[in-house]
Amino acid sequence: MSLVYQGSAKCLDRDYVSYNWDSWLEFSRSIEASTYKFIHTVKYAIAIPEIIVLLDFFKVPQREIKFSRESVFSRDSYKCGFCGQVFVPKDLTIDHIIPISQKDRHEGSPTHFMNVISACRPCNYKKANRDPSQASMPLLFQPRKPKWISPLSKATTNECLPSWEHFLNRQAISLGD
Ligand SMILES: [Zn+2]
Repeated sequence: MSLVYQGSAKCLDRDYVSYNWDSWLEFSRSIEASTYKFIHTVKYAIAIPEIIVLLDFFKVPQREIKFSRESVFSRDSYKCGFCGQVFVPKDLTIDHIIPISQKDRHEGSPTHFMNVISACRPCNYKKANRDPSQASMPLLFQPRKPKWISPLSKATTNECLPSWEHFLNRQAISLGD
């Protein structure tokens, strides 16, 4: 809603009529409370729009996934990159594919997504301070930059409001993996 307030987006009602912030407030006051879900603020009860149209973007803005242990484990489906077994997060470690101590010989940040892989403790211990070829431990899968998954992908598999059918071709939308 902050995008609507800033004038970067408009709300559409179920007949696809567009509203700016002020007219959406007016619309919210004019409709039955049971027809939409509402956000209640100190000043207003605002109907939660089912559809907004972005005016300033050509596509849904993508977010960068922040580098963290959890985001690396999740990217790797909690699998060790060396033995392929699935572990709970507490039994996984972050392995630097090219060890930090060798980073001068390689380009890029040593903690970049592309230089790390999930590894169980025994595999990480065995690989030690070597790269996969030195350790004769080839990677079972390659690291990649994780994709941000749009909340829309959740909407396409779960709840879909009737007013969205107009925009969603479930077969055509494949977001994330
Ligand atoms: Zn392992």
